[in-house]
Amino acid sequence: MSNQIPQLQFVNMELTLKCNFRCLHCGSTAGKPRSNELKFDEWISVMKQLAELGCREVCILGGEPFLMPEWFAIARIICDLGMNLVIITNGWFIEQQIVDQLKTLKRLDRIGVSLDGATPEVHDKIRGRRSSFQKALNALWLLRDAGFEAGAITSVSKLNLSELFKIRDLLVGQNITLISLVCPAPSEKYPSPCVISNWSASCPANVTSPVAVCPPMFFSVNVNSSEQSSISSWSKS
Ligand code: SF4
Repeated sequence: MSNQIPQLQFVNMELTLKCNFRCLHCGSTAGKPRSNELKFDEWISVMKQLAELGCREVCILGGEPFLMPEWFAIARIICDLGMNLVIITNGWFIEQQIVDQLKTLKRLDRIGVSLDGATPEVHDKIRGRRSSFQKALNALWLLRDAGFEAGAITSVSKLNLSELFKIRDLLVGQNITLISLVCPAPSEKYPSPCVISNWSASCPANVTSPVAVCPPMFFSVNVNSSEQSSISSWSKS
């Protein structure tokens, strides 16, 4: 067995559990902040340690990361320490003022905005908040116009199965070509599929569309290139 210590490359950091949404599939059961969340100074210490360990990329998420009052200072320190920054958000708070702040972050690499439907009916129902669909789209258009590599993250379930290709077409029609599919663990509230057939094969060549599984869930999504464009059942990894 090798004694080599693996190189730390990527870290996901939940800045807060506080969230303004109550999504059906939320794996963190986000809403209220934890009573023992790290303070700003502690986060700074964590960032410095990550940089010393050679970490290349830090993804900040939540909860909703923009609800952490010091999100910008933390984001700037990540960049100043030479690490790339990724942000995952529900998009609700992204307006021009935040976009202007984001523009000053020199190592901001990608921003993912949650989008679970091609219509307000589906997205807002899954996300538990009226107008969240329109806010997510506004966020994506603003980020695109500002020149960021912005994309959608879609949590796939039977509730939005029939919308997947519509979501993709809606985004591609607006020059957003980064679309990530995520499969949360199924639950009573969130009846997940999934074998996703023909997704990658059917995407236009300019679309980047990774399919991921939310760790530490023990399910995987099978993507194949069969002719059938359907999502049928879960497969356990
Ligand atoms: S926006 Fe994210 S953190 Fe907030 S409830 Fe939804 S899935 Fe959970």
